[in-house]
Amino acid sequence: MNDPDFRDYQVGIYSHQNAIFRLNRPGYSKVDAALSSSAWTVYDHFREAFSWIKLKASPEAKFDAELAQPEINEAPIYDTKEMTQIIKQVAKAYGAAVVGVCRLNRNWIYSHDKRGQPTEIPEKITHAIVIGVEMDLEALQTSPAYPASFATGNGYSRMAFIQSCMAEFIRNLGFEAIPAGNNLGLSIPLAIDAGLGEYGRHGLLINPEFGSNLRICKVFTNLPLVSDKPIKFGVLQFCRTCKRCAESCPSQSISYEDYPSWSGPTKSNNPGILKWYINVETCYHFWTQNGNDCSTCITSCPFTKNRHWSHRLARFAIKHVPFLNRILVKLDHILGYGKQRDPQTFWKENKEFIHTRKGY
Ligand code: SF4
Ligand code: SF4
Repeated sequence: MNDPDFRDYQVGIYSHQNAIFRLNRPGYSKVDAALSSSAWTVYDHFREAFSWIKLKASPEAKFDAELAQPEINEAPIYDTKEMTQIIKQVAKAYGAAVVGVCRLNRNWIYSHDKRGQPTEIPEKITHAIVIGVEMDLEALQTSPAYPASFATGNGYSRMAFIQSCMAEFIRNLGFEAIPAGNNLGLSIPLAIDAGLGEYGRHGLLINPEFGSNLRICKVFTNLPLVSDKPIKFGVLQFCRTCKRCAESCPSQSISYEDYPSWSGPTKSNNPGILKWYINVETCYHFWTQNGNDCSTCITSCPFTKNRHWSHRLARFAIKHVPFLNRILVKLDHILGYGKQRDPQTFWKENKEFIHTRKGY
């Protein structure tokens, strides 16, 4: 968005949607598009979800007087370990799939926001609570068709809900809380610091339980908490053998190299980290041509699975018996995991999908 030399400079991802509707392809109808864009409603329009200060009750709030709470001037002292447990418990009660805590590494904080305004997190903020929100995997598996974007938008809107409730909870305890979605800082390195997973070839977090099927939000705070530690469970080694995401990517934006590198192929890649870099220009170009976002790298990844015992067993093997990686990749391929789900079947088989899936 900030590079005038880029062919899709300032081109929105929905700009070609009308032409796409006319092609009448399954999963690309106006109904699919209406569903996917409505899923973003809370994330895109509920500005209070990103508030740095305690929220005030709206004039419409029915029980203003009852809700009014005394101002807490001094933060009480809590047992740090116990409070960390409570924070995680509350985040899960609000709908988080996974929660981790880390000391705030300011290398992951953006210097400027989307509009070019400098951003600065106050020095007193010491920790990040990093929250992963599970997406509707069946919808996501229709990627790059639009029901997958419903799963994405729905995940973002639930992020906004959880991050804002968590921030208010912390403020009610007498501490500062700054909730963030994709803004303010890089979510993936924060999630890695908070022990939520490892970094994959496709440029995304891989969590041991949910794979890459997580949206990530965070709450920055000065509440004293116990930090988690980064985890390792064989992802780097597995990615060297696998390359499923690179093969499945419709725009061929994911590296096939055996080893990670220190810089990426475009000027919009941020160099200086040893990792596999995505070609963000071809990826974004595909989004504009698709008329919506894409999640194929999430769904094609063998780690993104339901929690069946056989998948748990595979994850155990990846961690403890890495010489089996090649066989596991082949098996995943033979069993047809990670393939796109037919968007038409998705609608037919899920007539009541919004109501029947607990947790989504
Ligand atoms: S989002 Fe889609 S186009 Fe972009 S890297 Fe992932 S699979 Fe490729
Ligand atoms: S699809 Fe394979 S190579 Fe790509 S991130 Fe997942 S495990 Fe790694």
